[in-house]
Amino acid sequence: MTHESPPRAWVEVNLEAIAHNLDVARQALPDTALMPVIKAGAYGHGLEPVARRLDADGIAFFGVANAGEARRLSRAGVRTKPFILGPTFPEEREEIVLNNWCATISTLEEALHFNSLAALYDKTFLVHMAVDTGMGREGFLPSQLNDVVNPLLALPNLRVDGVMSHFPSADEDVPYTQNEIGLFTDCVQQLQQHFRLRYRHIAASAGELGYEIPVANLARPGLLLYGVAPMASIYDGLLKPTLRLSSRVSLVRELPANHGVAYGRTFITAKPTRVATIGIGYADGWPRATSGKGARVYLNGHSCPLLGRVTMDQIMADVTHVPFVAPGDEVELIGPHIPVTEVADKADTIVWTIFTGLGPRLPRVYST
Ligand SMILES: *Cc1c(COP(=O)(O)O)cnc(C)c1O
Repeated sequence: MTHESPPRAWVEVNLEAIAHNLDVARQALPDTALMPVIKAGAYGHGLEPVARRLDADGIAFFGVANAGEARRLSRAGVRTKPFILGPTFPEEREEIVLNNWCATISTLEEALHFNSLAALYDKTFLVHMAVDTGMGREGFLPSQLNDVVNPLLALPNLRVDGVMSHFPSADEDVPYTQNEIGLFTDCVQQLQQHFRLRYRHIAASAGELGYEIPVANLARPGLLLYGVAPMASIYDGLLKPTLRLSSRVSLVRELPANHGVAYGRTFITAKPTRVATIGIGYADGWPRATSGKGARVYLNGHSCPLLGRVTMDQIMADVTHVPFVAPGDEVELIGPHIPVTEVADKADTIVWTIFTGLGPRLPRVYST
């Protein structure tokens, strides 16, 4: 007989909520094709399950970070074409060409390499030209476009099928971003004289709901699929949370006054205190930076402040005011009572890092 114990900490993912949030994006942008961004394991929600759930929904591409994620999608039987968002390095390109995944180019060297690989396999490879309108991470500079058009047109096995850029400050600097939209529009118009650009895209979640971008016909929502709007918009209230992070109490103890809690003894009890030890820590992705910042967990109907530093596998919370608490009780760390945005604030970071930090030790449980 084997008996498998329940996990100490786990993530429940609501795939229907992710599909719903994609619908919110679709309604906000009725004439725009969508590239749901599912890189980094769908922001911690699980690459394959999220891709399978969204696959049927008539979308243009899935945004992934690298060839490894694209490969996982094809092995999972996902039909939507993966789009590799960042620059590719030389050793990734043969696999990309062989599988007809979509990639970007920022230099003529990359274009020549893709072209020769496509020639080797006797095919036409479709790429999107990246244009650097301000992010400084990839792309041709707008001033280079004139000089690269003819060399690109001369490559027989490469076709420029789209143009893309990426906002650096859509949620922080509206005037800059509006100006950048003008620059992107100029670049698109210039390139359109030479290429048939089926796809033109610049916006991620913030850009998508916050700005009018008439020249774009494809959007790349990431964070908003996972229920968080990076910028205030009329769509905020429509997004649904997609994930719940839970753990369990492993121990409940009464500590006397003047007793330290956790490494460094940064917290000392002022009075007799009932302390719950909870089975999750920074190794699971619960940010150590929440230590001493007034972060809380939710337990048996009560908010309970965390005490002292987050340790690798455990945290401690003050449960003096909770009438009933016992080992095995469930603890909410992210969920209906504790929004992920609060956790990010307490950790002095952004929501993206909280989602993508959820570690492999946390089993993902899917509900639909
Ligand atoms: C990650 C990423 C996105 C998605 O960004 P969100 O802010 O999460 O919506 C879109 N485009 C590119 C190029 C990205 O790298």
